[in-house]
Amino acid sequence: MTDVALSGLLPERATRVRELIADVPDFPSPGILFKDITPLLADAEGLADVVEAFTRLALADGVDVVAGMEARGFLFGAPVAHALGLGFLPLRKAGKLPPPTESVSYDLEYGSAAIELRSGTLTPGARVLIIDDVLATGGTAAAAAQLVEQCGGVVAGLAFLLELDALHGRERLTGRNVDTLLRVSTPSGG
Ligand code: AMP
Repeated sequence: MTDVALSGLLPERATRVRELIADVPDFPSPGILFKDITPLLADAEGLADVVEAFTRLALADGVDVVAGMEARGFLFGAPVAHALGLGFLPLRKAGKLPPPTESVSYDLEYGSAAIELRSGTLTPGARVLIIDDVLATGGTAAAAAQLVEQCGGVVAGLAFLLELDALHGRERLTGRNVDTLLRVSTPSGG
């Protein structure tokens, strides 16, 4: 990993966050280098540092509500919302929420997926910060931004713990305000 961008953290604390994210080769399928955040979540200081860094981004973006993608976006999004005194919107995989929902479909390498938001939970005009753990190809994040806008929200920004540079996810989010806490230049996927 390179280019630690956990602005506001002491350098040794930023390095520690980086070291708490484990590389797991060939998971969940051959050729994928999975970024495992469970050691980071288990570490009180590491978790606090990441939540604090996301919270600073949200303050800079002027946010009314925080949204997070299922499932790992929930782990950071909800504590960030709480730290800011804001609400949290879960963006869930298809079929998990009771109707009525708003939905956006997007393409995966094989097949397609959809994410959903419970109708009526997003106040029209609200400025939304979308949070997830990893920006890979950007398909999930682009769909999340589209879903927020479909529901009448304004995408204030998208924030990720990790950006996998080699997959160019940022290109799917051109024109949007994208922040990542750590960038990874090694080839990876997922
Ligand atoms: P993408 O839509 O390709 O940007 O993929 C982003 C979603 O897939 C995020 O919700 C991540 O949790 C997950 N993901 C993608 N690639 C990885 C990876 N190498 N390690 C861990 N999670 C990943």
